[in-house]
Amino acid sequence: MKPFSQITRRKFLQLSGIGAATLASFARTGHAAPAFLKKQSAFISNKVQNIPTVCNMCKARCLVSCKVVNGRVVKIDGLADNPYNGMAVCARGNAASELLYDVDRLKYPMKRVGERGEGKWARISWGEAIDTISQQLEKALRSSGPKALALFAKGSSSSYIKELFAEFSIAQVNDVSSEQCGMNRELAYRLTFGNDGAQFPLLDYANTSCVVLVGSHLGENVDVAELQNLARARGNGAKLIVVDPRFSSVAAKADNHLMIRPGTDQVLLMGWINYIIDAGLYDVGYVSQHVTGFAELRRDASFYSLEKAAEITGIPAEVIRQTATMIAAAAPGVIIHPGNHSAWYGNDVQRLRTQAILAGLLGSWGSRGGLLPRTAFGDELPPVHANQQAIAELLKNRDWHGATIIKKMEKGAVRVVGCWGQNPLHSIVNPYRTRKAFMAADFVFACDVLPSDTTLFADIILPEASFLERYDVVDRYQTTAQNFIAVRTPVVAPAYEARDPYWIVKQLSTRLGRGDGFRFADVRARLDHELAKDDLSLAKIAAEGGFALLPKVAELENNVRFATPSGKIEFFPKSLSADRLTLVPNYDEVPAPPQGFARLLSGRSPVHSQTLTCNNKWLRHEMAENELWLNEQLAEKLLVKAGERLFLENQDGVRSMKPIVVKLTPGIRADCVYLVHGFGARSPLLQQGFDQGVGDMMLMTRSRRDQFSGSRGLRVNFVRLIKNGKPLDMRNL
Ligand code: SF4
Repeated sequence: MKPFSQITRRKFLQLSGIGAATLASFARTGHAAPAFLKKQSAFISNKVQNIPTVCNMCKARCLVSCKVVNGRVVKIDGLADNPYNGMAVCARGNAASELLYDVDRLKYPMKRVGERGEGKWARISWGEAIDTISQQLEKALRSSGPKALALFAKGSSSSYIKELFAEFSIAQVNDVSSEQCGMNRELAYRLTFGNDGAQFPLLDYANTSCVVLVGSHLGENVDVAELQNLARARGNGAKLIVVDPRFSSVAAKADNHLMIRPGTDQVLLMGWINYIIDAGLYDVGYVSQHVTGFAELRRDASFYSLEKAAEITGIPAEVIRQTATMIAAAAPGVIIHPGNHSAWYGNDVQRLRTQAILAGLLGSWGSRGGLLPRTAFGDELPPVHANQQAIAELLKNRDWHGATIIKKMEKGAVRVVGCWGQNPLHSIVNPYRTRKAFMAADFVFACDVLPSDTTLFADIILPEASFLERYDVVDRYQTTAQNFIAVRTPVVAPAYEARDPYWIVKQLSTRLGRGDGFRFADVRARLDHELAKDDLSLAKIAAEGGFALLPKVAELENNVRFATPSGKIEFFPKSLSADRLTLVPNYDEVPAPPQGFARLLSGRSPVHSQTLTCNNKWLRHEMAENELWLNEQLAEKLLVKAGERLFLENQDGVRSMKPIVVKLTPGIRADCVYLVHGFGARSPLLQQGFDQGVGDMMLMTRSRRDQFSGSRGLRVNFVRLIKNGKPLDMRNL
């Protein structure tokens, strides 16, 4: 397999024709450009301003206050008195000003002038950029219809371009967060509870007695508000059980850390279920009143005795028994956490259904201290047919899946592609195929704040205003304590020629003659129109200090209505038998590592948000590159020392672009290794992030498709260490 781009930054600059004049415009002028200063003047004041907005350094949407001195953001804190994250922000929120003032930002619209991927661009006007994109979209729509177009989107700023694509019935719109995180969970929870599964249920940390995290590494995957809630729950005496092959930071705080064999989580869950049923520890009254399919569950779970579960998961039978007893003793006030990132091994819907079933068995759904179903704002729970329709769509529609779109691009069926905030080379399995697919497209446009790896393949690049420079969408929050609305608001004017996403899409919409949502003069008018439904406006929210409280719309506790065909929690969803769903979730065995290899696991860091922050100076100061977690006993056998730099090679012979530093620890099993996702950028325009650390996706050339949702689990890739050019045999201990 061909190595990924080996282009160096120096070589790139030579090739790109970004000569002295252009380079000067990329130089560290920051916000000093005269035109920009003129625009900034409206914001400049000798007084210090504290301007509220919504953080976008991850998807948690913390409310923040930006201290702006003479038009420059100097500090970001939590927004006082807000009912969500309070005064706290994480390191990434604090470092958002480094994104704003990043010298590598995309500054002007540009068009490709060399071969695709060669990296030669010329600065153009917004008019030319918008004309070119709209002409290409129109041409493809006219000649081949909506099936010839696709969009890779990420984040709330992409909501306007998604809206425009929907106007043209373009179904191939990939949202990586939905595919990798939300869809498996949505399907599992819709099937079981009939709730509006697109929404994470509310977790009643304030009243819980026990929290169970299956694979969730909260702590590394930071959500400030949730971490505060978890810490308070622990302070109130709640138990914490963490299931993870790795001793994560939250595992360090747990009463029990179960170091499970990767891919066998569902067996542990079934082992718990079987023991809880056998020992009569489930909520008999709740189950008889609210559940269908209990008999089938009891029958099928009986296969997973403590001994069987221990044999498959590698967790001692006594530990499984003890933890099952601990969970049941806390019921119904138990949070079986539904999880965040969910596409793991390609058997994910069944694993998540099993989690949901365990919550049902314990009577936790709709109970104090458990999982509280969200209700749509002002609406009743969605009716049964709406829920069934959503399930059918999730089971059948593959058009929007990233790997499906890439395949169609390879075949030439998708010819025109947009990337809006997403970096598919780091989000979709097998970046080598993704690269080839982008090379084969007729036309690619990209809109982003920074020049990511994928923007290198664009014909037209649009500079997007960073989140501190733009309005976005109306953000609605529902918590167990309070509902409220906030809107991301600019705290400084856009730098250089960056524009807000509404403005950009409005220009496209005007050229294409479609898009009623873009009839408003600007994004402020559009947002005021939306806020009017709640008798609010941007001015009112600003006057109230950055957020507006909403009335609680429903009684959350004892909310046990289910939009399933039976009107009950369905352990055994008979209505779906035609859709080949194994009715009671059975364990779909995950392939073990081949001889001499270890499973490659990857995850988050508390100081980075995937590739978004790889170029952030402050965050790189905290973590400049990723390291490889390696079991210390295995390392001793392999004669590998802490701090050594070794190459990785995967099962298909693909080697890492550079060696990775090894961290030896007893905190990981010997059959897997772990590194943080988001490193190893190949875009030479990222001065800080280019070629730093090792990109996990570069080693993920295989995936396993979930038979129900179609999402791609990536934890089916394996690696071995290469020392002095020779592979080390990573055989298990
Ligand atoms: S958790 Fe951190 S990065 Fe995420 S929204 Fe909150 S402050 Fe921002």
